[in-house]
Amino acid sequence: MKNILIYNEYISEKNNPEAKSVYPNGIHIALKNIFSDEDYNVNCITLENYAEFLTEDYLKTIDCLIWWGHLAHEKISDDIAILIKNCVLKGMGLIVLHSGHMAKPFVSLMGTSCTLKWREGDKEILWNVNPSHPIAKDISEYLILNGEEMYGEYFDIPKPDDVVFAGWFSGGEVFRSGVTFSRGRGRIFYFQPGHETVPTYYNNDIKKIIQNAVNWVTDVKKNDVIDCPNTKPVFNNR
Ligand code: ZN
Repeated sequence: MKNILIYNEYISEKNNPEAKSVYPNGIHIALKNIFSDEDYNVNCITLENYAEFLTEDYLKTIDCLIWWGHLAHEKISDDIAILIKNCVLKGMGLIVLHSGHMAKPFVSLMGTSCTLKWREGDKEILWNVNPSHPIAKDISEYLILNGEEMYGEYFDIPKPDDVVFAGWFSGGEVFRSGVTFSRGRGRIFYFQPGHETVPTYYNNDIKKIIQNAVNWVTDVKKNDVIDCPNTKPVFNNR
């Protein structure tokens, strides 16, 4: 059983009628519904209660944190961003969705500005450019997403370990839409689709990708401490 924690700031779906009509119960509930109860234990938190849950003891129990944020990145405390970063270094998986590219924990793990180009209302063709990667398992050559928000290069991230998906937009822009990183013992997946006013998280292929990503980022051995041992040579007497 994998323990998944979904953070969604949950602002647009309350204040923007367009977002509310697509995700009446919040993006976090649409994301939670991706996962079956038999294999995953999923909990959701929002900006209103995140500080109560994001403690060291609680995060120790979490295998994967999924993050959706947009308007309230600055409201997340620096201490909690550092705590999340340290949990990733110890092996907790992190999946950052869409506008989460500017979330404090992600920016701090990347060490770059994580800025990009954007424009609302575009058609995206999401190309599977790494079909043997576990996150692309059972995903076809490309998906068409009508009405996604355009995110374009240059995306200021460090060179990813892998680019799994590349987006093309009808305005001509391209984007590294699905990228992986390892930091310490942890695995990170950033995934671009998921603007709040379009029903992307109900798309079966997108759901499959997010599920694959959870399985991939949690396929690591966690450690209680960030490794930095001073040790004798292993092979001295052999
Ligand atoms: Zn957006």
